[in-house]
Amino acid sequence: RTVYVNGDYLPEDQARVSIFDRAFLMADGVYEVTSVLGGKLIDFDGHLKRLDRSLGELEIRNPLSADDWLAIHRELVTVNEITDGMIYLQVTRGAPGDRDFAWPDPETCPPTVVLFTQSKPGLAESPAAKVGMKVISIEDLRWGRRDIKTVQLLYPSMGKMMAKKAGCDDAWLVEDGFVTEGTSNNTYIVKGNSIITRELSHDILHGITRAAVLRFAREAQMEVIERPFTIAEAQDADEAFITSASAFVMPVVEIDGAVLGDGKPGKVAARMREIYLDEMRKAAI
Ligand code: PLP
Repeated sequence: RTVYVNGDYLPEDQARVSIFDRAFLMADGVYEVTSVLGGKLIDFDGHLKRLDRSLGELEIRNPLSADDWLAIHRELVTVNEITDGMIYLQVTRGAPGDRDFAWPDPETCPPTVVLFTQSKPGLAESPAAKVGMKVISIEDLRWGRRDIKTVQLLYPSMGKMMAKKAGCDDAWLVEDGFVTEGTSNNTYIVKGNSIITRELSHDILHGITRAAVLRFAREAQMEVIERPFTIAEAQDADEAFITSASAFVMPVVEIDGAVLGDGKPGKVAARMREIYLDEMRKAAI
């Protein structure tokens, strides 16, 4: 596999970054994941805009232009022959000489840029979408700026492991009695013709898939209500689902052991998945 590191395309076993990189020492970096379907990038502009926002919030300079980012993504898709899969990009504050809590002057410390691909044949035909996910709930113990897509992912990893040990697929994170989001996705419940999802704030990641799905839901004459909900309300809902750039729209059929409806993926989730995939494939670049 060919990867990209700071201007070079290299075989993955020749790629190197410094042990002083602040992402390695302090999780001082941000990332994006863009899906590839049929060799094309899904919602690429959305990911680039959020990358800019994450970098801005952390005062890290965006080292590349939008055209450069697109060219690198396209080159990796081509050389690695990705039909369906994903591209991971990471920008970190770079590697100053000494470890220091204060970050260095950007002029003396250029950001580190890393990109790689993962091939996932049949990504959009996921059998999981026909079965639905089982989730547990756990306390949300992450930091307070979840709107910045940092590489600080240890608590979400712990949540995912707790879910696996419980025989489930993911964990929904709960703060002050209300669901914030999943370990790596935004969360939704459906009641009648309404889709309910937590409003944007510093408490959750502003999902690129979320923005698209809510737009398509409104266009399909569904009511979209942006407010927090509890686990009890979710267990009592008609349906539930999650969204993310790599899972698209995925139904949830069980929450903390409570089966939703008849235990099968809901109609609204299935419909939103279909609309999302159709529309995003059409708009892919
Ligand atoms: N929330 C969290 C915590 C995430 O890590 C992710 C994706 O990685 C999402 C939500 C979904 O965001 P997106 O739709 O942009 O992939």
